[in-house]
Amino acid sequence: MKLIFEKSIKDRDGYSLPGDLFKEIKIEDCLPEYAISKKKKLLSEVSEVDVVRHFTKLSKLNYGLDDGFYPLGSCTMKYNPKINEKLASLNNFTYAHPLAPEETVQGSLEIIYDLNKLLCEITAMDEYTMAPAAGAHGELTGNLIMRKYFVDRGDKRHKMLIPDSAHGTNPASAAMADFQVVEVKSNERGTVDLTELARLMDKDTVGLMLTNPNTVGLYDEGIKNIEKIVHHKGGLLYYDGANLNASLGIIRPGDAGFDVVHLNLHKTFSTPHGGGGPGAGVIGVKKDLIPYLPTPIVAFDSTHKKYYLLDLGSKSIGMVRAFWSNFPVLIKTYVWILSMGPDGLYNASETSIINANYVLAKLKKYYKPAYDRYCGHECTVTGKEYKKYGVKTLDIAKRLMDYGMHPPTIYFPHFEPYAEETIMVEPPESESKEMLDKFIEIMIKISNEAKTNPELLTTAPHNTPIRRTNDLVAAKRPILTYDDELKLKDELKYKDKNIDF
Ligand SMILES: *Cc1c(COP(=O)(O)O)cnc(C)c1O
Repeated sequence: MKLIFEKSIKDRDGYSLPGDLFKEIKIEDCLPEYAISKKKKLLSEVSEVDVVRHFTKLSKLNYGLDDGFYPLGSCTMKYNPKINEKLASLNNFTYAHPLAPEETVQGSLEIIYDLNKLLCEITAMDEYTMAPAAGAHGELTGNLIMRKYFVDRGDKRHKMLIPDSAHGTNPASAAMADFQVVEVKSNERGTVDLTELARLMDKDTVGLMLTNPNTVGLYDEGIKNIEKIVHHKGGLLYYDGANLNASLGIIRPGDAGFDVVHLNLHKTFSTPHGGGGPGAGVIGVKKDLIPYLPTPIVAFDSTHKKYYLLDLGSKSIGMVRAFWSNFPVLIKTYVWILSMGPDGLYNASETSIINANYVLAKLKKYYKPAYDRYCGHECTVTGKEYKKYGVKTLDIAKRLMDYGMHPPTIYFPHFEPYAEETIMVEPPESESKEMLDKFIEIMIKISNEAKTNPELLTTAPHNTPIRRTNDLVAAKRPILTYDDELKLKDELKYKDKNIDF
């Protein structure tokens, strides 16, 4: 498809004005000199209909949740009810200014307050901050809370334990909070090695950040012992609950003794994850940690029956963002929780767990799992058996696109025994059995193709608007301007026929 610049026709306009209405007006009379560019700008000269058709065409090249299956592991790319988007975009919400006087935005504050209570109930925590704008931002906030808690006690702990099966953002967040990251190896079941944990947990250690289910999609069976080991040495327990899709109504991190938990409302709670849209990596804490939360939080004055922003005072870690939250994400979460009810939430998790185990059971003969056991809401298998046919997991993923499916997460996680050719499938609760069967059928078909006609995979995709891109060139020579594009196109024209712009 052509770029909009390539569609430019000299002197073509996108608008017209009557007669000589503006003939007298010169740009120099309207703008100060410094504001007028001396250089000629490379702008495309196109009509309005050219623009509309160009971008409509572009939008049709895209693939999203509204098009089909999107089983991206560790992402919870599930379909969310459209009505929730509609409610979050009601004028009363979108026109509310974050600095509006409290008495004029009582409804919005009430939603934040009530949502806090609901999330506390769902996770057995005592108070939430809605401020963090993403999961990793929540982790950083959680780490800063733990840091301030210990600093306040004159306790100089500086190490953070993180299992090798944790999400990659965990060690990054702990390091940003100035903790020394110490890795805890997994045992032969794919979960935290308790002996190793007991050896590493000492008086210099802040605690442990546990992703559960971990990045391989496995529940940690040792949580009770993990809790004892960490708390016994005075440490704190952090729960990465980004994927709460796996545990709604089944386990509550607070009941299991966790002190800090983060949830990705933009995965589990009715905001699609991905596309760079707004997120909310809210943080829940136990009572002792409430004073350290980012300030302010929404409180209720029962005497005057009004909601207000409560400044948490000097112990608070301060603000972690401008204003109070990505509010539309909170509205969608609130609506989703209320419309699902406790049984509905349980059902969502139960269905996503059954879906993942169904896919695993059907695929394991063709794509070997590293641990042959039940999984949580996602399953991890490998495509390493197809290496002998010259086929990589990347080729399998590309071939899936020919069949109209978004590929799962690949080459993640990267610790042993997963380091090789990993495929991580998350089939969320919003997918039907028919869709899962279709996916399974295609995956089996691809495994046969790998043996009989590997070239079909190594040259895939064949049916997509963009063929296989050259990852190396994309990383080394990013195209940031139209000139870059023309230059590169020229250079590579005769070198690599597989490259598609
Ligand atoms: C997605 C995810 C994160 C990070 O969340 P972002 O919103 O992408 O920053 C952290 N932990 C786990 C387990 C995740 O799946």
